[in-house]
Amino acid sequence: MYSSFNHPQPDANGYFGQYGGSFIPPQLQTIMDEITKAYLTIRQEPDFLSELARLYKHFVGRPSPIFHAQNLSEKYGADIYLKREDLNHTGAHKINHCLGEALLAKKMGKTKLIAETGAGQHGVALATAAALVGLKCDIYMGEVDIAKEYPNVVRMRILGATVIPATHGLKTLKEAVDAAFEAYMQDPVNQFYAIGSVVGPHPFPMMVRDFQSVIGNEAREQFHEMNNKHPDHLVACVGGGSNAMGLFSAFLSDSVMMHGVEPAGRDLEKQGEHAATLTLGVPGTMHGFKSYMLQDEAGEPAPVHSVASGLDYPSVGPQHAHLKDSGRVNYAAINDDEAIHAFFELSRLEGIIPAIESSHAVAYAIKLAKEKGPSDILVNLSGRGDKDIDFVVKHYGKQYGIETMVEG
Ligand SMILES: *Cc1c(COP(=O)(O)O)cnc(C)c1O
Repeated sequence: MYSSFNHPQPDANGYFGQYGGSFIPPQLQTIMDEITKAYLTIRQEPDFLSELARLYKHFVGRPSPIFHAQNLSEKYGADIYLKREDLNHTGAHKINHCLGEALLAKKMGKTKLIAETGAGQHGVALATAAALVGLKCDIYMGEVDIAKEYPNVVRMRILGATVIPATHGLKTLKEAVDAAFEAYMQDPVNQFYAIGSVVGPHPFPMMVRDFQSVIGNEAREQFHEMNNKHPDHLVACVGGGSNAMGLFSAFLSDSVMMHGVEPAGRDLEKQGEHAATLTLGVPGTMHGFKSYMLQDEAGEPAPVHSVASGLDYPSVGPQHAHLKDSGRVNYAAINDDEAIHAFFELSRLEGIIPAIESSHAVAYAIKLAKEKGPSDILVNLSGRGDKDIDFVVKHYGKQYGIETMVEG
């Protein structure tokens, strides 16, 4: 089942072609090397693998089913299937790698997990894993985001995590990253910085992909069992790229078309109004690894926007950069309005409220169906939309015929 823990890439230095690697201060490199060594060892250990498999099954609720969305399929003329990561405990795919990272940290004798979070999704998944595995957990979050995403802050606190406000600058995600990094530098021996996607220095892009590959391994088998063939197309949204890598990794040697969907935001022409890194970015180095990135004139990470807070990141996992250059995966962009339209289509045709992030993938599947006609399209439904309903109703309710209560 975990044979996919042995992918041909990356190389021993963490490179996928020219992308990836590790660009960090020497003292951190020593720690990173220890993490790499520990990970390469434990991923061969039957105890670790069976513990992870047990948690996936009995804690997360895996395998997540594949659902043939027949109403959506009939309307748009292709067979659209959903890999239901939205049904996981905590409501998205992030729990898959948070559990893996927490188990590794515990085996390495670390006492505390730390991470930054923007909207709070990674923070909640990590706080959940920390509670289960028995580790302390500090989550760094911008003061502005703490006010905006208060329900997730409460969740993290209930789970026993400490939420630490970042109070400088714009007090959002970037400042939270700074604060978490600073705290990590203070004590990299006892703390484990749990990166939330297939990004960061080696070994994180490899390790997070491996933990997420359970999605693709299950889906490949499940789809074949249902249809006695592979899908024609795979579709997944791409923020940092972990849910997409998790699905794609199992199909890289099959003749299956793959599509990674980035957020085109409000306007693909204007910097700061989108986060379409592979569509419009250039190769560069930030946050400790080489990949495509969106830069401003000074070469700094550019401001980004997406209606889906889980997708607004100015870089992307290095394996995606490599898969783009090699042409193996097609990367496209879906804008805010198209994503919201798909959010309502899936809700009203299938009774499934998707996360706005995942709605980008659904929107692209609808486009593909219209373009290609009869074909089998498998969409990774990375998360559920419960977290998004207040926002959607407030900003788009009227447009979609939802009466809202009179405010004030
Ligand atoms: C965080 C998140 C994403 C984006 O992260 P990736 O690493 O690109 O998968 C996508 N969907 C949901 C539901 C998320 O919570």
